[in-house]
Amino acid sequence: KKAIAVMTSGGDAQGMNSNVRAIVRSAIFKGCRAFVVMEGYEGLVRGGPEYIKECSWEDVRGWSTEGGTNIGTARCLEFRQRDGRLLGAQHLIEAGVDALIVCGGDGSLTGADLFRSEWPSLIKELLENGRISKDQFQKYQHLNICGTVGSIDNDMSTTDATIGAYSALDRICKAIDYVEATANSHSRAFVVEVMGRNCGWLALLAGIATSADYIFIPEKPATSSEWQDQMCDIVAKHRSKGKRTTIVIVAEGAISADLTPISPADVHKVLVDRLGLDTRITTLGHVQRGGTAVAYDRMLATLQGVEAVNAVLESTADTPSPLIAINENKIVRKPLVESVRLTKSVAEAIQAKDFKKAMDLRDTEFVE
Ligand code: ADP
Repeated sequence: KKAIAVMTSGGDAQGMNSNVRAIVRSAIFKGCRAFVVMEGYEGLVRGGPEYIKECSWEDVRGWSTEGGTNIGTARCLEFRQRDGRLLGAQHLIEAGVDALIVCGGDGSLTGADLFRSEWPSLIKELLENGRISKDQFQKYQHLNICGTVGSIDNDMSTTDATIGAYSALDRICKAIDYVEATANSHSRAFVVEVMGRNCGWLALLAGIATSADYIFIPEKPATSSEWQDQMCDIVAKHRSKGKRTTIVIVAEGAISADLTPISPADVHKVLVDRLGLDTRITTLGHVQRGGTAVAYDRMLATLQGVEAVNAVLESTADTPSPLIAINENKIVRKPLVESVRLTKSVAEAIQAKDFKKAMDLRDTEFVE
């Protein structure tokens, strides 16, 4: 009987519970044993039945309607070291697990791929040090790895949507609707900071959905005088037509053309000094990761969980680790290494100020 374990790792995202539920139940449905690894890679490093737990069908009942991740997530420094991964391999073998599905962002999936590529040398060392038996060495020659992308930022290349992104977008839109009501009463301006790391997806889509006056995203930097003039012209025009509210959205990774960050305080100062607007800053923070998943994320996470189990059962020692993506509304498999590499190249291109390259790289996600 194959034993498939699932973990959630990195920043949490709504919909992770749906993903875990679907993986546990699909695994059992396909005749496998299902395990959860608690607290991300921390659980692998610590090991034992408290951290690598076998799960029954009932254990994940109702999880689709719960926010956060019930199996915990963590950032684990030890797993970045070979010794941590050596412990992880030993603990997986001790628990009898031969496949691992990781739901996380690009960092977590990089770690997963590294773990798989090192696996032969890890188990060799474990055998030599007497930490696993010859039988275990023979039985666990190969570790199957599969990634599903849980991230509110929608920042992974090769997939149109990540699990959690639409829920975070929904939280942002609701919060901006709330703010807009009070802005209207007092005729105020609000500068709203949203998450997204170096990806402007949340800010851009929230800007469209709330018809904000102006947005700042990392992908479209401008010099100080460009954005100041443009923003003030637009806001002044809207005000002159009788609009009582001003909403400006700033992505947390927003930068100006000289690569310095643009903060909500910078924007606040310009709205006050140049337009004399009564302006407030609202940083949405962890509200964006909170609450339950929207229907889209529950659906995405469930379909991708089923596909992740299929992928694990079909892959052999020679198959590259798959990442489960969605392209034009179809659940598809992509090579995990390639997706992570492309995602990192986009981030590097943005940091190197090569925006054309960053956009071209982002576009390649629609090409096979
Ligand atoms: P995310 O998955 O959301 O991008 P992080 O980048 O913080 O979040 O990664 C989550 C965890 O994945 C880290 O705490 C670490 O344990 C593991 N990890 C990340 N990058 C690597 C790496 N290069 N090698 C090994 N493990 C890694």
